[in-house]
Amino acid sequence: MRISDTLVLQLVATTRKLSEDQVVELRAQEKATNRPMQDIVTMSGLVSEADLVKLYARHIKMPYIDLDLLSINLELLKKIPERIARRYSSVVFSINTDGSFNVACAEKLDDNIIRIIEKYTKKSIQVHLAAQAGIERWLNQYRTLDSQIGPIVKIQKMPINKKSSDSGEELINELLKQALDLSATDIHIEPYDNHAQIRFRIDGRLQGFHPLSSGQFSALSAFLMNDLVNLSEDNRTKPKEGSFQHMHEDTKFQVDVSVLPVLDGQKIYLHMQSRTSSVPSLESLGLWGPALTRTKSILSHTNGLILVAGPGKSGKTSTLHALLSTMHSTHVSMIAIEDELAYSEPYISHVTVGKKNGMSWSKAFAASIKQDPDIILLQRLQDSQTAKYTIAASEDRQLICSGIVASSAPAAISKLRSLSIQNHDIAHVLRSIIGQRLVRSLCQHCRIKVPADETTINRVKAIVDQFPLYSFEDIHLIEKAAASSGIGGSEGLVTTNNKIQSIWEPNPEGCDSCHETGFAGLTGIFEVMQMTAALKQSVVKSADTQDITSNAIEEGMIPFAIDGLIKAFRGITTLNEIERAQQSAY
Ligand SMILES: [Zn+2]
Repeated sequence: MRISDTLVLQLVATTRKLSEDQVVELRAQEKATNRPMQDIVTMSGLVSEADLVKLYARHIKMPYIDLDLLSINLELLKKIPERIARRYSSVVFSINTDGSFNVACAEKLDDNIIRIIEKYTKKSIQVHLAAQAGIERWLNQYRTLDSQIGPIVKIQKMPINKKSSDSGEELINELLKQALDLSATDIHIEPYDNHAQIRFRIDGRLQGFHPLSSGQFSALSAFLMNDLVNLSEDNRTKPKEGSFQHMHEDTKFQVDVSVLPVLDGQKIYLHMQSRTSSVPSLESLGLWGPALTRTKSILSHTNGLILVAGPGKSGKTSTLHALLSTMHSTHVSMIAIEDELAYSEPYISHVTVGKKNGMSWSKAFAASIKQDPDIILLQRLQDSQTAKYTIAASEDRQLICSGIVASSAPAAISKLRSLSIQNHDIAHVLRSIIGQRLVRSLCQHCRIKVPADETTINRVKAIVDQFPLYSFEDIHLIEKAAASSGIGGSEGLVTTNNKIQSIWEPNPEGCDSCHETGFAGLTGIFEVMQMTAALKQSVVKSADTQDITSNAIEEGMIPFAIDGLIKAFRGITTLNEIERAQQSAY
């Protein structure tokens, strides 16, 4: 959605006073960058994209909806077919009591388009304005829908053989189309005497398909190796590896190819991975309130080190990409060093680390620094050499955002020490550490609230008692703050200033939208440790993790166990999930 430059300034001025100097500066930036004012004000942090859309909606007297606050209901998503939803950037997000649908759109829709959408929904619709990023996230769920519809029916009807074409290019495209239509993750092609067997891995199980003739197999493997991945066909006795990009509908896939010499020739294995999942916002990851404010404030630094700490598979990479997406602008150059491409943002140059290209983390880092980027995303800081480079670069003029395997934000300090980084260097370059865990989200459609019994009260007490600086009243106040930030919707509080009254649980029967599991997706629980003067001092004095933890809490860090507890109180997740996530934390 495009809002005129003058109107953007007017809208911003309704929320905060803009001095004449600020307006002049904004106009100058607009001129220098040749970008619309809308981008300039959101990039400068004067107002978020979501808030700007909200102000605009109010201005044109349209209702506004923040899709990030709602969990995605796949049943409702199905009401509009994907191609129509994408064409008009529109998704159904709720049903009204009279049976009509609420539809979120990125633009104001004219009556004709409303009629087209109503043709599909077969119900009248009420249109709400929403931020483009939120709509994108919902649209991306059509992929989940595809994988649920159960594509198995098509199996055994592989039409490749019926096609007259024996061109390698057409064969590989057809094979990938068939596989991706069925949401397969892998393709195995095995040569035999006079044919090649084809199997797809779907939902974790291999399924057989119509074989290729020997001629087709030769054409396919020649095209694959010579044209797509440029693997020499010369030496047929050596294993080979490579990869290429492939577009399927609107999604970009990376296809990794592995070729293994076998008795009857070369066995080909293809692994397909989606490359266009959109980068989540910090809010949609589960950051809110003080942790969100702290995170956004650290992003104003132009050099230094920001760490995201957690065990493996705790969502660190998504957080790193969300951080970079917040900082992206035309003035900033970014390089991401990763062992696997998680997101393919057009504004980041991606460097892949791995055996395939002989690139180690430290080699990739040294090569990236030569390009003089402003920001480097380092997926994993795990060896002393890379750590040494990281300190030097972040002391100089680079902002490094790096993942680190550590059980908590304070524990990441010991991890840095174990990588031979000196305390004074840590204190000097480190800006902030975000500690995190992933927990399962309760299905918002069927979650249930039950009265808190003795056991629940004791379990909650056990978590709170680990942090002597928190009284139960503090916890109640944080729950209140979370509720007013919209965490967990409009449900009432479960705590009073001295006790817990009720608790949320998964519905044992579940519902359609959570496939009878009671849970839907994952969410993050966070702690943000900002390196204040006091914390820097305790690092220099070699304080241990326990001391740094209490120091950080005194300096305002809400430990992730408490963030998790609050999210359990708000019905986002459960007490069980928090207890599980907390094991191994402190
Ligand atoms: Zn449910």
